[in-house]
Amino acid sequence: MSVERASAERAAELATNYDNVLSKVQNKSQEHRVRLVAVSKLKPASDILALYDHGVRHFGENYVQEMISKAKELPKDIKWHFIGGLQTGKCKDLGKGIENLFAVETLDSLKKVRKLESARESAKLPPINVYLQINTSNEEQKAGYTLQNVDEIYETVEYLQQSKTLIFKGLMTIGSFAESTSDSGVNQDFSRLAALKKQLDEKFSLDLELSMGMSNDFEAAIEQGSTSVRVGTSIFGARPPRNGH
Ligand SMILES: *Cc1c(COP(=O)(O)O)cnc(C)c1O
Repeated sequence: MSVERASAERAAELATNYDNVLSKVQNKSQEHRVRLVAVSKLKPASDILALYDHGVRHFGENYVQEMISKAKELPKDIKWHFIGGLQTGKCKDLGKGIENLFAVETLDSLKKVRKLESARESAKLPPINVYLQINTSNEEQKAGYTLQNVDEIYETVEYLQQSKTLIFKGLMTIGSFAESTSDSGVNQDFSRLAALKKQLDEKFSLDLELSMGMSNDFEAAIEQGSTSVRVGTSIFGARPPRNGH
């Protein structure tokens, strides 16, 4: 493999950071299993490889091309999670570009579901897990199905139940900044996602996962039922600006 190695110092720093987050996750998750996804967007492949050598397998990326090029040069048993904003025009590349794609967490329309499915099928690649992104905070700048339009969610769920290529795994949300920093005790965005899960579980006989919680709110998210937390900054440190902006 041609990936450059991180320095011994950097590798040790990453391992320590990861272990710190993992022990917090484990402390909060006595009741249920919680997956820790290391969000490596804009961080070098050498950082990912250092954590891989430490035993980490689940990594999250936000940009389709960046994820495809990292996946090419890194070990094939990495479980990649796509967690970035997904444009319709990128569904094809995402579906066919990575054999070991584990999950796409940001599907927000039936149209994208169909595009991803057909790309995956025509490339004859293994099935992938999918999450529907829900805009629980109803913020205009955020992607996701809205809770006001639950019929649209039902329609996608019904479609996914027939799919052999896309496995409907759960719901995902990015809580609002206001909720993640308020000290009211309960994060309303996470409550709304948990309530939707309950509703869909009952209606469609499912047991959906919840992908919610990032560096500054993953402990609260686990208390509210998260089964998959996505942590970047607390593991890798602050990110560089994208494209030098
Ligand atoms: C970047 C990102 C994360 C990680 O955020 P941190 O605050 O760095 O932990 C998690 N989820 C999504 C969807 C992201 O885009």
